[in-house]
Amino acid sequence: MSEGSLEAPVRHPIDWKNPDFYDEAKLDEELRRVFDICHGCRRCFNLCDSFPRLFDLIDEAPSEELDTVDSKDFKPVVDACTLCDMCFMVKCPYVPPHEFNLDFPHLMLRYRAVEAKKKGAPFAEKQLTATDRNGKLAAGALSGVANWATDRGNGLTRPLMEKAADVHRDAALPKFAKKTLVASAKANPPKADDKAPAAGKKKAVIYATCYGNYNTPEVGEALLGVLAKNGVAAEVVYPECCGMPQMEQGAIQDVAEKAKRVAASLERYVDDGYEVIALVPSCALMLKFEWPLILPDDERIKKLSAATRDASEYVVRLAKEFGLADGLKPLDGPVTVHIACHSRAQNMGQKATEMLKLIPEIELTVVERCSGHGGSWGVMKENFEVGIKVGRPVFRQAKANGKAKYVASECPLAGLHIAQGMEMSAKDADEKASLPETTPHPITLFAKAYGL
Ligand code: SF4
Ligand code: SF4
Repeated sequence: MSEGSLEAPVRHPIDWKNPDFYDEAKLDEELRRVFDICHGCRRCFNLCDSFPRLFDLIDEAPSEELDTVDSKDFKPVVDACTLCDMCFMVKCPYVPPHEFNLDFPHLMLRYRAVEAKKKGAPFAEKQLTATDRNGKLAAGALSGVANWATDRGNGLTRPLMEKAADVHRDAALPKFAKKTLVASAKANPPKADDKAPAAGKKKAVIYATCYGNYNTPEVGEALLGVLAKNGVAAEVVYPECCGMPQMEQGAIQDVAEKAKRVAASLERYVDDGYEVIALVPSCALMLKFEWPLILPDDERIKKLSAATRDASEYVVRLAKEFGLADGLKPLDGPVTVHIACHSRAQNMGQKATEMLKLIPEIELTVVERCSGHGGSWGVMKENFEVGIKVGRPVFRQAKANGKAKYVASECPLAGLHIAQGMEMSAKDADEKASLPETTPHPITLFAKAYGL
C-alpha cells in the first residue's frame, strides 16, 4: 500500500491501442497536469533522478512555475526514469482510486512509446536489449570470447563498444554462461525427495527468463535443488524473453507479442495446475502485472498472471503450507539482503527476507532502496554515473559496517551494480579487499544452507 494513501493502489490498463495515446498535444497536457501535482507535492524527491530533474527544471524557470517551462525540456526527466515503479507503489497518495489518477511510471512509458512510434527505438539500445539473440550467440561455446570482449578491464573492446553502442566503458556487464539453464536442467533433471513434507503435493515450472537462462543458470540450479529437496520436481522452460527491455524503450506492441507467445507456450502447464516461477523479479512483475495491463482482455494472460510466483515467494509459501524439509544449517557469515524495486512492486511483502530468516541463526541486514541500475538503462553512457549516484546509499548500507560476508539481491542486475558501486566507493585497498566477492541471489544462499 502506498505511504500516503489508505487504499491499495489500482492500476488502470495501458491505453496503448487508442490513437489518443500517441497524440502529442494530449500527452503534453497530461505531462503538465501530472508534473504540476508533483511539483506541489515533492514526496518523491529522493527516489531517483527524474524528480530532482523535474523540480529543478520548474524552480529555475522564469516564473518558477510550469507555465514558463518549454515542453522540449521534459525529455531529461523522462530519460532518467528506470520504470522502477517505486513512486507509484510506495509513495504516491494520488494513484487511482484517488481522483487525481496519477501513474507517473506509465506516463513516462507513454512518452517513450510516442517517441518510439515517431523515431523508432535508438539503434544501440535495440541491439543491447535483443537478449535472446545476444544470449544465443554468446552463451555456450563462445562464452569465453564474449566475456573477454565485454569485460570492463578490456581496454581494447570497451572503448569501441562505448563509441558504437553507447555502453559506458566502466559499466560492469553480465557474464554469459558456458551452459544455459535449460541445457543444464536437461542434463541433470532434478529428483524430488519423496519423503519431504510437500512431496507430490505441488507442481511447478520455472520460467528461466533471459538472464536466468543465458547469464546466471546457477540461480535456477539452486532453486531446482531447494525444490527437489522439498519434494517438488520442477521443470525448466524458456520460450523467450518477457519483453521488459522493450518495455523500457516504449515498444509496447513488441511486449504484447512476446506476452502472447509466452502465455500460449505455458498454457498447458497452467491448465494442468502448475505454478510458474519466474527467476527474475522484473520478469515476475511483467507476467503478474504489466502483461495484464497491456492485454487486459486476454484470458490466457490472466490465467498465467494468477499462476505466476516469484522465486522467494514460492519457497516461503511452501514453508507456510507444508513446512520445509529438514537440513538447513547456519551460514558461515552475516548477510545483507537488498530488496529490489521490482520485488517491492509485486506488493507481496519482503519475501527474500522471510525466506532467509528460515535459515537458523542468520544475521541479516535488510536494505530496501533502489540500487539505481534500471536494467539496460544504467549501463548506457549517459546514465551510468547517474545510476551510481542514485545507488550510493545502498552501497553504503550494503556493507553493514564491514560485517557482511554476503550481499544478496534477488535482482541480478542490481547485484552486479551493487558490487561495482561498493568497489567504486571503497575508501582504500583494504576496504576493497574486504568486500564480498559475489552478490548472490538469496536462493543461492538458501541452497548453501541446505548444503546443496
Ligand atoms: S518509476 Fe522509479 S525511476 Fe521512474 S519516476 Fe518513479 S521512482 Fe523514479
Ligand atoms: S508521484 Fe505522487 S508522491 Fe511522487 S511527487 Fe508526484 S504526486 Fe508526489
